[in-house]
Amino acid sequence: MKTKQPPTALQKMGLDSPMALALHLPSRYEDETELFSIEDALSRGRFASVQTQGLVIRSQVLFRPRRQLLVTIEDDSASLQLRFLNFYPSQQKQMAVGAHVRVRGEVREGFQGVEMVHPTVRAVTPEAVLPSSLTPVYPASAGISQTIIRKAVNQALREPALKESLAEFLPEKLMIEMLPSNDWPNLETAITYLHQPPADADTQALLDRTHPAWRRVQFEELLAQQISLKRAHSIRRQRRAPQFEKSKNKTKSKIEDGLLKALPFKLTGAQELVWAEIGDNLSNAFPMNRLLQGDVGSGKTVVAALAAARAMDHGYQAAVMAPTEILAEQHFLKMKEWFEPLGVTVAWLSGSLKVKDKRLAQEMIESGAAQLIIGTHALIQETVSFAKLGLAVIDEQHRFGVRQRLEIQQRVGSELFYCHQLMMSATPIPRTLAMTYYADLDVSVIDELPPGRKPIVTKVVKAARRDEVISGVHDWLSKGLQAYWVCPLIEESEVLQLQTAVESFEQLTLALPSFKVGLVHGRLKGHEKAAVMAAFKANEIQLLVATTVIEVGVDVPNAALMVIEHAERFGYAQIHQLRGRVGRGSADSVCILMYAEPLSLAAKERLQTLRETSDGFVIAERDLSLRGPGELLGAKQSGDAMLRFVDLQRDAWLIELAQRVADRLLADHVDLVERQLARWLGSRTEFLKA
Ligand code: ADP
Ligand code: MG
Repeated sequence: MKTKQPPTALQKMGLDSPMALALHLPSRYEDETELFSIEDALSRGRFASVQTQGLVIRSQVLFRPRRQLLVTIEDDSASLQLRFLNFYPSQQKQMAVGAHVRVRGEVREGFQGVEMVHPTVRAVTPEAVLPSSLTPVYPASAGISQTIIRKAVNQALREPALKESLAEFLPEKLMIEMLPSNDWPNLETAITYLHQPPADADTQALLDRTHPAWRRVQFEELLAQQISLKRAHSIRRQRRAPQFEKSKNKTKSKIEDGLLKALPFKLTGAQELVWAEIGDNLSNAFPMNRLLQGDVGSGKTVVAALAAARAMDHGYQAAVMAPTEILAEQHFLKMKEWFEPLGVTVAWLSGSLKVKDKRLAQEMIESGAAQLIIGTHALIQETVSFAKLGLAVIDEQHRFGVRQRLEIQQRVGSELFYCHQLMMSATPIPRTLAMTYYADLDVSVIDELPPGRKPIVTKVVKAARRDEVISGVHDWLSKGLQAYWVCPLIEESEVLQLQTAVESFEQLTLALPSFKVGLVHGRLKGHEKAAVMAAFKANEIQLLVATTVIEVGVDVPNAALMVIEHAERFGYAQIHQLRGRVGRGSADSVCILMYAEPLSLAAKERLQTLRETSDGFVIAERDLSLRGPGELLGAKQSGDAMLRFVDLQRDAWLIELAQRVADRLLADHVDLVERQLARWLGSRTEFLKA
């Protein structure tokens, strides 16, 4: 392909093959199919862009009031002034007197009569034919022109190889039976249409992506995704995993029975149920891929611990990975408390360990001396290799990228078998996501909180009433209870964030002299954080000032009051998670959301919703409608896995259709399945297996 641009510009955008170019679909169109005389353009161009052309009869650069280029063009009917406030010498040359140009833009009343400001300009001969299709405008990164992309796409569309790979291969019978209407074009026609829609195309439907051509493309994309998910599902079933059956022999279920006996509470009905589902999966000879979902505080940890116990009873290792050091540490402390009395060796691995300690931990993991391993991302680093990993638990799974979830399999230390995976999350998965990205994931839900939980009363308070809030905290602490004071994450500046936390800490220390105030933030070293948290847990610290590092996992039942400063800066999920830290003990729990004015409409609505409900499902739904599914999927790390043309909310009905067709293809036309995957996903299938 010959272009003036170095080929890397297109390649950088991922447009490195005819297929990639064909699937680089326009974001909008310009209508250059109609040409008006200048006289007609003057009257029609008041509210919409018009196209006209003429001979340049004057071209001058003015310097007052600022440097600008004024050009006049003329045809048989009238003349038109063009004004350019920014221009390049090349444009000046293009519009030199005597040149013939085609221009497109809106006309408006200027100081010196009717004119076009910054029209698009093209040098043409007077006889130049008009395009018969709308002109596509492509998504482009800076420094690459539409002309270059258009040329490349047009060339790609003419490649015989491309035509072949876009060829229809759905059996006609299936299409007639299953596709919704006969106005769906085949894929090649659809793609060509979207790149070059005829002048009379329904541009609104094209923009909304509801046009039959779009539908066909979206359907194909979903079909490929469904096929690959279903394939992942059957591939998983063919993989081998160690079978962990509940042993009837007491000596062989020592750890599990010991844990159950030592627990200071009875499992809730919901916990029993999900544990049964998980236990059932663990007894299979293929790896479990299950999501354990339950609202903040619903008691997911103990279920994970039971699963770990069963794996360990069978002589295998179990690992628990959490996205933050604080959360991982909480798990570590809890698991140590539960398991060490049962003779289990629990190891800790995090990035912040000293080199020597890290090496020691790695050796214990590799030799099998460590039976239960708790840690952060450090667990999936190349230097880690498990002796005999039977179960991986991944907490707050949406905080990890898809790739990272795959990584753990590569650390298992044996190519012969895979470990069971248990993911945990407090964020419910909306139905559309469950049907697409999570289709190969079994889901267990804990839909009941442990008994005795008091609902959390949430109050929304202006920052101007800070003194009142502080005196409320004083009364609270005087009752022998503890509290959190949360300072917001300041994305732009870690220094600023630290500063506000330190300021609040100092102010509160002064205002509450009879109590011990502690401070924990992201800049502290691991052991420093641990020391503060331990002191808080032991009630040596009564008020804990914290940045959002405590967002997840901290568990101190005596701390039932939480004040959140600048609550307007937090998202739904964050506050919901934070708030879940209180309401764990027997005291009435209170969460105070302090906000600074002025409050945006969105923030106001958010705070109001949070005050009215503590139902994680309601909150997750509001959240999803605001942000889209990206965050739930850990999309930051897995952009490639995203559906490009499908909007899960708008196109939900297409998902079911694609699912049905995928089933049919897999049942009756396995040969076609490969072709669909190859043409659509290329190398991206890996991601969908996670
Ligand atoms: P999450 O689901 O948010 O991870 P945790 O597992 O941290 O919740 O549990 C929250 C708290 O509830 C912990 O203190 C835990 O010990 C306690 N808990 C868990 N299950 C029960 C139960 N069945 N009865 C009473 N308390 C429980
Ligand atoms: Mg948890």
